[in-house]
Amino acid sequence: MIEIIGLTKRYPKAKVNALEHVDLKIETGEFFGLLGPNGAGKTTLINVISTLLHPTEGEIRIDGELLTRSRIDIKRKLSLITQHNSLRNDMTLDEIMELQGRLYYMNMADIRSRSEELLDFCGLLEHRKKTVRKLSGGMKRKLMICRALLTSPEILILDEPTVGLDPASRRQIWDLTRAINRQGMTVILTTHYMDEAQQLCGRIAMINKGRVERLETPEAFIKELGEYAIDVFGEDGTVSSFFPTQQEALGFAGTQKNRVMLRATTLEDVFLNIVGRGLTDK
Ligand code: ADP
Ligand code: MG
Repeated sequence: MIEIIGLTKRYPKAKVNALEHVDLKIETGEFFGLLGPNGAGKTTLINVISTLLHPTEGEIRIDGELLTRSRIDIKRKLSLITQHNSLRNDMTLDEIMELQGRLYYMNMADIRSRSEELLDFCGLLEHRKKTVRKLSGGMKRKLMICRALLTSPEILILDEPTVGLDPASRRQIWDLTRAINRQGMTVILTTHYMDEAQQLCGRIAMINKGRVERLETPEAFIKELGEYAIDVFGEDGTVSSFFPTQQEALGFAGTQKNRVMLRATTLEDVFLNIVGRGLTDK
């Protein structure tokens, strides 16, 4: 379990409070989403969880124990995949994995066997002798995931893992992170894509301006608005209305003169209709 208690992070030079009194509890085995617009504080939060940044106030506990930079044993439970590509272009996949293993004092036999297993799991095994520069964006992301898993962490943290990827690669990353979570690993994912959060996450913390504004399961968020959506296509654009039952939705649809469509409510609807009020990009 990860406990984030009264966490505040101030960047003194910029005079910005990137996080303000954040309290969160993430259970072991959860697929937890941090959803929020650019500048919300998502990266700051996971950088503090990964001990890359020191909190201004508050603390983090992993399985009850206080996380500090010197607690290498606790830090080893966590593995972070950063928002930006951190792979060297001139190294092969095998070399990337070997370097990572050596940094963590793994022996060569373990590095080889675990790398092979992971590269296979991520669909990269046939590319192992290629240099990173020859990989597509999606393959690079997958390699970063492989590298993060080499040391067998218990908690995998992914910071906006699908930004800039084509739709097929996005789906591959989704499948991969889902499979990792099903194997029992706790996964924390930051994203500003609502569809991604809805597809993957068991619970979602909507964060904005350094605060957790709402915390729910995607289903609960959607239920609150109404699970059935009717889009009415008017001359001035599309208007959506939301209903708790299909019957009510269809009843409303029957009263419309314009073309209508019944569909399932999405997290994006929730964001625009409940959470989005007053929640905007900086
Ligand atoms: P997100 O990942 O949700 O886009 P960040 O955590 O990167 O948000 O940023 C949160 C806030 O902190 C923003 O206002 C950003 O400008 C500011 N910030 C982030 N990193 C730094 C830094 N190193 N120095 C000063 N301000 C920063
Ligand atoms: Mg970020």
